[in-house]
Amino acid sequence: MRTVRVIAEARAEIDRARSAGAGVGLVPTMGFLHAGHVSLMERAASEADFVVATIFVNPLQFGPAEDLAAYPRDLETDTARCEGAGVDLLLVPGVEEMYPGPMRTAVTVADITARFEGASRPGHFAGVATVVAKLFNIVGPCRAYFGEKDWQQLCVVRQMAADLSFAVEVVGCPTVREPDGLAMSSRNTYLGASDRAAAPVLHRALVAGAESIRSGERSARVVRDVMSEVLGSEPRAEVDYAEVVDAGTLALVDPLAGDLRLLVAARIGPARLIDNVGAVAD
Ligand code: AMP
Repeated sequence: MRTVRVIAEARAEIDRARSAGAGVGLVPTMGFLHAGHVSLMERAASEADFVVATIFVNPLQFGPAEDLAAYPRDLETDTARCEGAGVDLLLVPGVEEMYPGPMRTAVTVADITARFEGASRPGHFAGVATVVAKLFNIVGPCRAYFGEKDWQQLCVVRQMAADLSFAVEVVGCPTVREPDGLAMSSRNTYLGASDRAAAPVLHRALVAGAESIRSGERSARVVRDVMSEVLGSEPRAEVDYAEVVDAGTLALVDPLAGDLRLLVAARIGPARLIDNVGAVAD
């Protein structure tokens, strides 16, 4: 595995691999890698000949009161994890390398960004879509692997790639969880012992909501109430939203029908956590 900090060097390596006939896989991350990230890299390595991973804590996607400065970093461990997962090229650009001057261009995606993370984190998805568009342009035609853990982000990236005709196939990968159900996240490191013990309540709420749909519940309001009741049992959880929506459009559906996604966000102590699961109402 080669690690580079300069975009032009990454392009040259990727072009070389592609002209030798390699299919390229891309895994964009913000680092502090855990088993969820590794699962994306391993999937990419199993499907692509040349795997590019990127580590970039993207200032554009953080709000002014958010955790940009505190975001955890550990490049040495990350490098070993990438190498172990079958990554061929690790691009770790500095902020100056990605944004050498003021950005006057942004990519915005309408409608599916209006609610949930888009409502709670103004500007977040423009920051995500802009940096992902840059990475797609840097890497070129590829399959790009994103986690279902960030379901709305996955929808936004899919929409952007289709709308802007990127030669990129966006691949969604299942959420990797701790044994108690907590979705792995770099931000879990913010949790002290009591908050960590409380955090699996998000997944418990999602499972209860999905189970009610599986047992025949078709009222979105009732499913919401099921989730809220579980979340309400944990005094440390400050709920932002708990909702069930169409999995593709993120629109409300009531009565519930088709492919659905249950989405939850809550603050637990210093960490704002999000999680989701799928359900089908047929
Ligand atoms: P991040 O470093 O948080 O920006 O995440 C980089 C990529 O890893 C995104 O596509 C995330 O959705 C994905 N990811 C993060 N956590 C998990 C997880 N627990 N399981 C699977 N994918 C994940």
